[in-house]
Amino acid sequence: MVSSPSPLPVIPAEVDHLVVGAGFGGIGAAIKLDEAGERDWLVVEKDDDVGGTWRANTYPGAACDVPSQLYSFSFAPHREWSMSFSPQPEIEAYIQRVAREAGILDRFRFGTRMESAAWDEDALRWRVRLSRAGVAYDVSARTLITGSGGLSEPRLPDIDGIDSFGGAIFHSARWEHSVDLTGKRVAVIGTGASAIQIIPELQKVAGRLDVHQRTAPYVIPRNDRTYSRLERTALRRLPGLGRAYRTGIYWGRELYVPAFAKQPRLAWPAVQMAKLNREKAIKDPDLLRKVTPTFQLGCKRVLISSTYYPALASPNVDLVTDRISAITPTGIVTADATGARTEREVDVIVVATGFQTTEQPIADHITGRDGVNLGDLWRKEGMASYKGTTTRGFPNLFQLVGANTTLGHSSMVFMIESQLAYVVDAIRTMRAHRYAAVEPRQDAQDAWNDDLQRRLAKSVWNTGGCSSWYLDAHGRNTVVWPRSTFAFRRELARWDPTAYDLVAG
Ligand code: NAP
Repeated sequence: MVSSPSPLPVIPAEVDHLVVGAGFGGIGAAIKLDEAGERDWLVVEKDDDVGGTWRANTYPGAACDVPSQLYSFSFAPHREWSMSFSPQPEIEAYIQRVAREAGILDRFRFGTRMESAAWDEDALRWRVRLSRAGVAYDVSARTLITGSGGLSEPRLPDIDGIDSFGGAIFHSARWEHSVDLTGKRVAVIGTGASAIQIIPELQKVAGRLDVHQRTAPYVIPRNDRTYSRLERTALRRLPGLGRAYRTGIYWGRELYVPAFAKQPRLAWPAVQMAKLNREKAIKDPDLLRKVTPTFQLGCKRVLISSTYYPALASPNVDLVTDRISAITPTGIVTADATGARTEREVDVIVVATGFQTTEQPIADHITGRDGVNLGDLWRKEGMASYKGTTTRGFPNLFQLVGANTTLGHSSMVFMIESQLAYVVDAIRTMRAHRYAAVEPRQDAQDAWNDDLQRRLAKSVWNTGGCSSWYLDAHGRNTVVWPRSTFAFRRELARWDPTAYDLVAG
């Protein structure tokens, strides 16, 4: 007898809360909603499993550049990290375990994409169109919680002829594992956080590796190490030790904030560490000059690696600093300062050019009050929300990792947990007081953003002499949180109804 495939799980037509994305944000939201007694929720995820960015980024060398002990939910601490900076497979496995053990996966729908969400002013609900396996589903939800991540949509470079390349070409977050790179001529475009993890791995296998650098980053040593058996046993058996370790790392990281936000001179020790890191590995003065940053440390994300510079100094690697002018079917064409063009033939191109950050792609799918589309609004005025979580004109919309919530120095998991406390408190208050719709007041949102922009104007992210993915097309920094992470936690500790227009239900 031929068994028929098991039917796909039902997508209900109505839920209290619809959560988009099954990464740290979506899973945290599901757990915290359940804990608050809000059980009528659905998480939709376009991929086939939980993990979000930690499922998508499987490139060689993928690992967290925040210390492992800080990179788990405080309510589900992981005691089994193998290294001081955890590799991607361990983080993905951790996320899967947390979701499984929380007993929440029955209300997750995988392979399901949110196509559109529109606020229904009469019903005071979100009307959401989902798609799964080519079938459309309409769901109505009281609240919409987005956990789709700030770094989910690859940003592909606009290079002449890129579509004509005849070899394999793929983005770092869409790694094609079927492509064998052994002995191949490979080019990596970009020298950001992803690229500097990829390059040392490719150097080991590629016949020749061209690294196309537009801006030299600061790279400080990683000092990664495998935990000894004794440490692992102690961390597993003594939860207090893990907590103390986590607390120590947390406060160590917070020391970066004054240097980034107020006084760049305080970053002097890190500048020296980056210099020593370069000089230890690179002896060729010309190469050393090319990898020396020309902006202030912190303006772009500070990278950590102890293997990047040794890889660049290897005989099979060329650092190419001439601008890319085109891609041909056979390689990459660069132009030097005089305009002279050179083609470097390659078999494979790895595009490590980052993500769409200042224009979060999910915004294009959300339409609020008066038919205003969030993507259009943010393109026109720049990303802006209240407390990085709620937005004027978009009632009952809660965004995790929204405007100005990204960090240059510590763990995003901490920020997500702070936001979850705020969202769940809002939902609890809505239920207790029978508010059908809540929406931040324009004056509250403006005051919040004016304060942020005032602080950012003095910060290294805005004044450090670089261009970065923190700044939008208007030159406004709509990505970075410019204060300590504990200030963020304090600001979001309780939902603040006085900052909202409230509609009774
Ligand atoms: P990224 O930091 O935005 O770096 C993109 C790189 O591509 C930069 O070097 C950029 O040069 C270059 N680039 C962009 N367009 C280019 C073009 N047209 N031609 C030549 N070069 C071009 O992206 P990412 O490395 O993927 O990292 C993004 C973020 O992901 C990180 O900042 C971090 O927050 C996160 N991440 C985290 C980890 C982790 O361990 N937790 C690991 C990887 C990534 P310019 O500098 O000149 O713009």
